[in-house]
Amino acid sequence: MRYEGAIYRPPSEARSYILQATIGCSWNHCTYCDMYRAKTFRVRALDQILADVKAAGAAYGEDVRKVFVADGDALVMDLAQWQPILEACRETFPRLVRVSAYATAMNLNAKSEGELRRLRELGLTLLYIGPETGDDATFKRIAKGAGFDDHVAAAERARAAGIALSTIFLLGAGGTERWREHAEASARLITAMDPQFVSLLTLTVIPDTPIAKLEARGGFELPTIEGTLRELRTIVALAEPTAAIFRTNHASNYLPLSGRLPRDRERIVAAVDGALAGEVALRPEWARGL
Ligand code: SF4
Repeated sequence: MRYEGAIYRPPSEARSYILQATIGCSWNHCTYCDMYRAKTFRVRALDQILADVKAAGAAYGEDVRKVFVADGDALVMDLAQWQPILEACRETFPRLVRVSAYATAMNLNAKSEGELRRLRELGLTLLYIGPETGDDATFKRIAKGAGFDDHVAAAERARAAGIALSTIFLLGAGGTERWREHAEASARLITAMDPQFVSLLTLTVIPDTPIAKLEARGGFELPTIEGTLRELRTIVALAEPTAAIFRTNHASNYLPLSGRLPRDRERIVAAVDGALAGEVALRPEWARGL
């Protein structure tokens, strides 16, 4: 298996075979993200991707139950590229139960309903999508490339095709200035998208990113730890998905929590209140990761 540059995957794909089908992110403008800044986006040649699948089959065949297709927004590939990849995965890994990838709202909204249904039939069953916020002013400030309504439309398309969504929201994305709007609108977007999974991450300002430059000019202020906990509490208290698995287990977070929303809302809010009252130990700064 050949990999180009650093590879990123969601925490829940820790045991998956990572298949790098695209290099970088086709959008690559989000102001806080430096994951693929050094990469020029391209789709890898199909024969190279299929050669990787074959090599992974020879090395791990029976052991592979999940495949995560990287890099940043692999859904951007067209159906003609996806189809042989998904067929090869199915043929090569006999115990395969899931293929997933990162996606943007733009990727989902650019695919026809028929294309999304076909991808689902071929085995693409889960997409990770990071609106990060629900607040249209914050969407613009972080240069997400899509807003509230685009994400609702994207979620409706995924649902119609039977593709599950794992959504990612970013504590701190609104800065101190818009923390309340950011948190309340994120809860509204979770309700409207109604995903199967909701993850919260905490923004870390990475040197040399546009948001770091904005911060240096005084145009952005990262909330305090207490501020991010307040955002977390607001989102959990207000979001009304039908039945979503909720996690803050990403290494960037100060308070790792898990449960189901809305079922475990009171327990999770109580845990956040305990942390705000200083009764629960937080992840120390040195142990946080991006
Ligand atoms: S869409 Fe994702 S990978 Fe691409 S720039 Fe934004 S956060 Fe980074």
